[in-house]
Amino acid sequence: MPQSARYVHQVSRPTGRPTGAEFRFTESPLPRLGPGTALVENVLLSVDPYMRENMDGGWELGTPLEGRSVGRVTASRAEGLTEGDLVLHRQGWRTHALVRPDEARVLPRTPNVPPETYLGILGGTGLTAYVALTRIARLAPGETVYISAAAGGVGSAAGQLARLLGAGRVVGSAGSPAKARFLTEELGYDAAFDHRDGRLAEQLSAAAPEGIDVYVDNVGGDHLEAAIGAMRDFGRIAWCGAIAQYNTAEPPPAPRNLFDMVEKSVRLEGFLVRDHGDAQEDLERLLLPALALGTVTDRHTVTEGFDQVVDAFLGMLDGGNTGKATVRLVTP
Ligand code: NDP
Repeated sequence: MPQSARYVHQVSRPTGRPTGAEFRFTESPLPRLGPGTALVENVLLSVDPYMRENMDGGWELGTPLEGRSVGRVTASRAEGLTEGDLVLHRQGWRTHALVRPDEARVLPRTPNVPPETYLGILGGTGLTAYVALTRIARLAPGETVYISAAAGGVGSAAGQLARLLGAGRVVGSAGSPAKARFLTEELGYDAAFDHRDGRLAEQLSAAAPEGIDVYVDNVGGDHLEAAIGAMRDFGRIAWCGAIAQYNTAEPPPAPRNLFDMVEKSVRLEGFLVRDHGDAQEDLERLLLPALALGTVTDRHTVTEGFDQVVDAFLGMLDGGNTGKATVRLVTP
């Protein structure tokens, strides 16, 4: 049993894309187990785009950072948390954490559902995709869906969920030809294209010649403009995120065609998954049978080792991940 815990702190604010110098690794004695708490050794950490936004002010400098994590309880004085339990909690960017029962969910042990699934398609990532398609866009059977950043965590969940929910045509964009192939060959997308070749509107209209009914927007900017252009009358846009602008000082000039939404009666709605935790049960009811049958894939790009957590985060911002970006500290 180690005597100390390691942490990552943010120590300065970035300008543009972070370089890694904004973070510092620290070490302190293991947190002391008190009544009503359990000591958890983290085994998996999630690195997510919203963390880039937190770096601009949401995260306090020089303190432990938050983030979704899966850990194993190594000692407990808390009712409901038992040594050996795997728990989902939010004390990420560190090797050990002290958690209370109301801060942790004990993960069920289910065949074909490894613990990382609760950071991926069964976690907040999958829930974002599910809420986007159901509550926000109100996808109807047979409709055409376009998903941007489609090979990432939310995107790879969204494409598969759209299919399960009865979408007609599912198209996606991602940042390389290999990612586009992953979408069509492994995730069942009908068509996919590489957004980095610079012909977004043209490629989207080739992928969805009849137009799109629903757009799950993970990128914003030029992707949102292309989607508005391709939208059919009464289309819906579920705006999840705008990763194209997280590393820029100024918001992008696009979309320049917002008024087209009036002419086409298109609805655009933003949302935060944290307001939709009550949809988790529905998500699990839909996905658990599909995961058990192997008809749904929960792909992760796993970076090994706590020392690599900053690089994993920066790599995800640059598109280094296919599926959910996750860091493994210990084999679960
Ligand atoms: P991803 O796994 O999709 O990782 C980010 C991906 O964004 C990269 O892999 C990269 O893929 C792509 N990307 C980076 N820069 C650009 C760019 N300039 N243009 C186009 N694509 C780019 O992350 P998540 O699945 O966790 O998150 C996806 C989106 O959903 C983010 O915008 C995030 O903020 C948002 N989100 C919103 C939530 C909410 O509550 N509203 C909750 C969770 C996530 P590529 O190689 O394809 O370019």
